[in-house]
Amino acid sequence: MGLKCADLDELRGLIGDCHRCALGDTRTTLVFGVGPSNADIVLVGEAPGRNEDLNGEPFVGAAGKLLDELLSSIGMARNGLYIANVLKCRPPGNRNPQAHEIETCTPFLREQLRLIDPALVVTLGNFSTRLLLATNEPITRLHGKVCHAGGMSILPSYHPAAAIYDRSKRNDLFSDFARIPDLVVSSADETVSAERMNGAEHG
Ligand code: SF4
Repeated sequence: MGLKCADLDELRGLIGDCHRCALGDTRTTLVFGVGPSNADIVLVGEAPGRNEDLNGEPFVGAAGKLLDELLSSIGMARNGLYIANVLKCRPPGNRNPQAHEIETCTPFLREQLRLIDPALVVTLGNFSTRLLLATNEPITRLHGKVCHAGGMSILPSYHPAAAIYDRSKRNDLFSDFARIPDLVVSSADETVSAERMNGAEHG
């Protein structure tokens, strides 16, 4: 599925009342993603859970509360960034996303990322990390390390839901998030230098 939309509204319209995979038959609400269309940071989780399916917003409930704490620890609030998931519809019983669901749904996420073009993508958990880094490495090995893939700077970390009752993952999440402000600044600096070099080459 090759997508090329003018903006996020057009993409949302194109997705419509999606039934391209079977999750369209079991979801309550399609969770498209929320945040500014020009956000510097995009967080990518796994899939809507029960609360998200009912509310239509990503990261509500206990995992959302921990996410708010993480953002607050670096002086940010969720309305300053964009939040999306690998899948836009809830897998029944919160089971793991299946390969054919990921394959069918993720062109929408990739188009969101292309349109927003953030300085930094933070992948939360194994599914978004493996998808965007095209790797099978587990998140335990990758978290906190900045990677570059598909033209994006990516910081993998744990999914907040996995850290609610796990003190060590929780500490790692806070350490990983502490890197975000500097990474956004350095990514913006790299973009400015690249633009200057292009200007020097072509000007
Ligand atoms: S998960 Fe994605 S592909 Fe499947 S029905 Fe929902 S929006 Fe469509």
